Amino acid sequence: MSDVPKSHPRYLSLTLRDRIVSGVEQGITSIHGLIAHGRGEAYDYLINEATQPFAHKAIRAAAAMLYLAQHPVISVNGNVAALVPKEIIELGQILKAPLEVNIFHTETGREQKIKEHLQKHDATKVLMPSKDTQLNFIDSNRKYVNPEGIFKADVVFVPLEDGDRCEALRKMGKDVVTIDLNPMSRTAKQASITIVDNVVRALPLLSQAIQTLPKDTDSQETVQQYNNEKILKEAVQYIRRSPNV
Ligand code: ATP
Ligand code: MG
Repeated sequence: MSDVPKSHPRYLSLTLRDRIVSGVEQGITSIHGLIAHGRGEAYDYLINEATQPFAHKAIRAAAAMLYLAQHPVISVNGNVAALVPKEIIELGQILKAPLEVNIFHTETGREQKIKEHLQKHDATKVLMPSKDTQLNFIDSNRKYVNPEGIFKADVVFVPLEDGDRCEALRKMGKDVVTIDLNPMSRTAKQASITIVDNVVRALPLLSQAIQTLPKDTDSQETVQQYNNEKILKEAVQYIRRSPNV
């Protein structure tokens, strides 16, 4: 890890870079994950590196949708495992939902390394993709899923998803909740609910929102009234008028 002084104006951003680089060194994160992270950083800059109102609204709806789910499953890739292992495990515990490893580049036993990394952080239930169970509408490695996990899920939570698989999951009738800093990505547009925010900020807020869902909230209504297209438009509007420009 590089020695970044806390006083450095980009301390947090540099710390996150260190986590991703360390993920690559440990064989958890794909080298392609560095590119995805860089793209994320660019968008984070444009939203002022803060959770904006459009993200707060999406978090509220996502909490309701995940709370109502019969069989929620949390899909984990190499960037998420490197950036927020503890937080993703905590969300699984709150929802009583399994984590499932699902990655694009399956080189060098990376799936197993992600599983072990999560277990090191005290994850109890980590499902692995099965070569016998496949999603329809997708050709990449990510079509392989666990029969007790993503295959059976009614709601899949997939931070930093790839557009192809998001579309396949939707075509199979599943709801998808994602966190993606790019409101223009195919994932953002295909998902049922898109939280346009950095996963490191949004994940703790989502866990908190699920735990503090007000008793008198009609979660069904919250989900029905939510309009993802509108939220994405708000995010794009914000970026256009970005205070950082
Ligand atoms: P899509 O396949 O959905 O069209 P893409 O191909 O442009 O998207 P991918 O490489 O598939 O992008 O996925 C990476 C996505 O994750 C990017 O949209 C990027 O902005 C986003 N991202 C990267 N790091 C973070 C982060 N820390 N928090 C939230 N989103 C992130
Ligand atoms: Mg993609």
